Amino acid sequence: MPTLYEMVKEAVMSSGGTATNKEIIQYALTHYEHDNKQSMIDTINSASVNSLGRINYFFNQREVVEPREKYDFLFKLGRASVTLYNPAIHGIWGIKSVNGSFKVYRVDLQRTVGSSLVLYNLYSREDLLRIFGESEMTPTWRQSGIISVKTSEGDTLFFVTLGSQGIGEEWVDESGILRWHPQKHQKRSDPQIQRFKESNNRGDLIYLFIRVEGDKKYYYAGTLKYLSTVTNTDDRIFFNWQISPWPPNQTFSSNIVKKVPTDVKLEVLTQTSFEEEERTEKIVKGLSPDDVANRLRSLSPNPDEYIVINGKRLKRDLVAISLIKQNRGFKCQICGVSIKKENGGLYIEGAHIKAKSLGGKEEPKNILVLCPNHHKEFDYGSRVVLELNENLIRFNLNGNEYTVSLKIVV
Ligand SMILES: [Zn+2]
Repeated sequence: MPTLYEMVKEAVMSSGGTATNKEIIQYALTHYEHDNKQSMIDTINSASVNSLGRINYFFNQREVVEPREKYDFLFKLGRASVTLYNPAIHGIWGIKSVNGSFKVYRVDLQRTVGSSLVLYNLYSREDLLRIFGESEMTPTWRQSGIISVKTSEGDTLFFVTLGSQGIGEEWVDESGILRWHPQKHQKRSDPQIQRFKESNNRGDLIYLFIRVEGDKKYYYAGTLKYLSTVTNTDDRIFFNWQISPWPPNQTFSSNIVKKVPTDVKLEVLTQTSFEEEERTEKIVKGLSPDDVANRLRSLSPNPDEYIVINGKRLKRDLVAISLIKQNRGFKCQICGVSIKKENGGLYIEGAHIKAKSLGGKEEPKNILVLCPNHHKEFDYGSRVVLELNENLIRFNLNGNEYTVSLKIVV
């Protein structure tokens, strides 16, 4: 009695080198009275070099760079038919290990890609089409910024065109972080967005090609590692990617990298001098709780205004934040912590819900009072706002859900 592998191989050869699953199953039944259909299907899938699911079989859970005679002898033609695998025609298919899981890929193409792509060299889309072994210029290739590499599941060509004026909404900063936002219709539930968030664990290679508006060709800048996403209240999502390797060469640096001001980067309050902030807090501290609540209720909507308290002229933004901190007891609204200062006062921070750079104002419904740890987590962590109104904000931060009151305490 031959093994299942021998049976399958024999069946395919007896039909002239190409067979449907049905024909193979029928052959095993007729010649060997083998009636377990599922075992035949499993054998076909596990032996097909281009079947992405074959990594689920234990003997495929290892690195393969040369076809093995026993296990790598079929090539899938469609959903339910196979032909005998011929590396000269079909290319060299193998299995690689990435971050503890396995992936089916084209060994020969990876070699070509590896030797053809040179960091910080310039490439047109046509160049890349050739390098990645794609046979035609499909509409995706012409238009989309995100192109899946057909020969290695999950690997992606990532095209970015930065605006030529100012910093804009997308940039590469000096630490190699690419700030990027998908198209408006791509919300956080979009499968591609989800896939990107899991790309590090899956070991997906995301090749970055980047240029400035008006350039014809793209720099090849290495690969992207997922860092975090920020979702705004209007459900737009922003990605922070780490470019690897980093730092880049001089040409790339001077053409692509921007000095991004911290306030834009953090999307938080412009860092006013600490002294000015402290002076404001001291003065606001002298107000009665009722006075604080009344002043919050009648805050001027004009962000550039100055407010006079006890004869002192103070910036409206700083006053507003101080009033909110005072009104909420100088405690982190997530963990309740406040930091004691040497002079006996308390230290706490004000975090914008809608970023100042996006028009978010210093008013009770847009400010959270947070400790430094939670402030940074709020800015850099994976954040999804679930509910936001005058009274409260409900959000998910790195997997934890919080509901925080935004009301004026009376
Ligand atoms: Zn906290």
